[in-house]
Amino acid sequence: MKELTIEQKIFLLDSIRDVENFPKPGIIFKDITTLLNNKIAFSLLMNHLEARYKDMELDYIAGIDSRGFIFGAALACKLGIGFVPIRKKGKLPSTTICEKYELEYGFDEVEIHFDAFEEKIGARVLLIDDLIATGGTAKASAKLITDTKAKLVESCFIIHLSFLDGKQKLEKLAPVYSILDI
Ligand code: AMP
Repeated sequence: MKELTIEQKIFLLDSIRDVENFPKPGIIFKDITTLLNNKIAFSLLMNHLEARYKDMELDYIAGIDSRGFIFGAALACKLGIGFVPIRKKGKLPSTTICEKYELEYGFDEVEIHFDAFEEKIGARVLLIDDLIATGGTAKASAKLITDTKAKLVESCFIIHLSFLDGKQKLEKLAPVYSILDI
């Protein structure tokens, strides 16, 4: 698997816009829309992900609501495998299983269709999102994958906020790959 060079990582990092005080004061929001509309950055990233995952015998990509859908669906299409959305509560139309997780103030919930991986027993799944911060969303999503009896092969994030311990938490469940560690 070909690693990205430092120059390529800097290029990707520079393509992501920092928006200060969004969605609330004190947060620096990593806006990946400026990576997506940069055709060179987007294809560099997606080609890198394809090269990393093409020989891992994955059956599905599970993407986290909502920016995980963009990278996850594009990668699934490149790899010729299925895509499964993990959504915030109340968005999926059929029967779901649900996992609650703690936020700074209060709780949130993510859901998956209970039969999302049903076509293949022990399906090999990659979990993907744009960013891991505290790891709460990703850990709850990983639990949904294992609760459906699928196998979580790896979790993948474009951005990892390394001043938080989200990655370490998630590594207890399966390997974690992050491209840009900030
Ligand atoms: P967490 O559960 O704390 O790891 O938060 C991860 C989720 O929140 C991901 O779906 C991210 O898209 C989003 N998120 C958290 N912090 C940021 C940030 N600083 N910039 C952009 N997205 C963020």
